[in-house]
Amino acid sequence: MTDIRQRFFIEHSPVRGEVVHLAETLQTILKQRDYPKAIELLLGELLAGSALLASTLKIKGRLSLQIQGSGSLKWAMAECNHLGELRALAEWNDDPVLMQADNGDVALGTLKDGVLFINIEPEHGERYQGIVPLEATSLAGCLTQYYDLSAQIPTRLALACDGERAGGLLIQLLPRNDEEQTLMDEDLWPRLTLLTNTLKADELIYLPAQEILYRLYNEEEVRLPEHENLSFGCTCSHERCEQALRQVGQETVQELLNEQNEIKMDCQFCNAQYRFGPEEALGLFGMHVS
Ligand SMILES: [Zn+2]
Repeated sequence: MTDIRQRFFIEHSPVRGEVVHLAETLQTILKQRDYPKAIELLLGELLAGSALLASTLKIKGRLSLQIQGSGSLKWAMAECNHLGELRALAEWNDDPVLMQADNGDVALGTLKDGVLFINIEPEHGERYQGIVPLEATSLAGCLTQYYDLSAQIPTRLALACDGERAGGLLIQLLPRNDEEQTLMDEDLWPRLTLLTNTLKADELIYLPAQEILYRLYNEEEVRLPEHENLSFGCTCSHERCEQALRQVGQETVQELLNEQNEIKMDCQFCNAQYRFGPEEALGLFGMHVS
């Protein structure tokens, strides 16, 4: 059990869900910067949340969760693509309350007038952005609110992180057709909701997915397809840097080259460095260096 996403279905009902566990992926990402503990915990929850939400999509592309505010946490984001590749990043001010805090909700609480963005970027087709005010005191609470208000799909979410590992669980009642409506046990969803709320952070982080599902829903018939693997993955590349240089334009590129004889571009996510000498940088604009 390391970095996986386990989907599940409650048989004979329109209820589905998944459990996510992250260990190596989380540790790789948290090592990329010297984050305060509260932000590490928040990033763990954001990563688990993005992996849960990404699997509800039926498209090729990526889903990101981004928190934005004007307090000591400037912003934090995590994204997951259709291959189960994740990455995350945050910016903050050295505020003592944030630096000494030891839970992720504190990072969330230091946001002033914060909002949570849910971005969906398909490889082909239109982008989507959902916006949720940060009114709940936890990320799971904010995401639940989003599903209740915007998506109108009854959903319960649990997220937890201890700095080494992160866990997440999502369960949803999908829209039903008339036949399913009449067949479904009316108490099923309220019962599942109550059971889901009994899950403790430690259980979510450390128990294997099958064990969690058995403890919670052992009175139901739970079906588990093959699990999917999750891993760290960055989408930066030399080609993307070339595109970025083309976008800033020849004049700016020339100015940068006048200052230094080389353009260096660092990927904030994975610390990869891309370098462009005058010949290559100006070559992007069809110029030759004599
Ligand atoms: Zn990168």
